[in-house]
Amino acid sequence: MTSEVLARRARLLADSRESLIAAASEARDHAYAPYSSYLVGCALLAGGAIYTGGNVENASYGLTICAERVACANAALAGVRDIELCAVITTSSPPAAPCGMCLQTLRELSAHPAALSIILVNLTGEERVYTLAELSPHAFHKDQLTR
Ligand SMILES: [Zn+2]
Repeated sequence: MTSEVLARRARLLADSRESLIAAASEARDHAYAPYSSYLVGCALLAGGAIYTGGNVENASYGLTICAERVACANAALAGVRDIELCAVITTSSPPAAPCGMCLQTLRELSAHPAALSIILVNLTGEERVYTLAELSPHAFHKDQLTR
């Protein structure tokens, strides 16, 4: 990863932070969580476009899909292979990080995990920012597949 990537991502974080949080918040408004009532919204930025997702629960519980994976699926279907910025909004304090399954899914669509900032916020305005590499430092990656 070059310093240019880091500099570009730092600018994206500064310039797109508010709009990405707003998009995540709007996605959260559409989340489907009738069992836990734990609504989550996620927004991803890639190539100037924003992809969103909300968690979608299921009466069988095990089929529940997290907001982050819904957003990743939306981005992947649009051709995204390198997510540039991520925001997740919950009611947790401190703001909740994506679960392990979602971190692995984000890794699949991140060419630069040390430069993918994940903004964690809650409804009271608490905010934390970590990189994907910080939250999942040893994620499995497709480069490790050997045949
Ligand atoms: Zn998850």
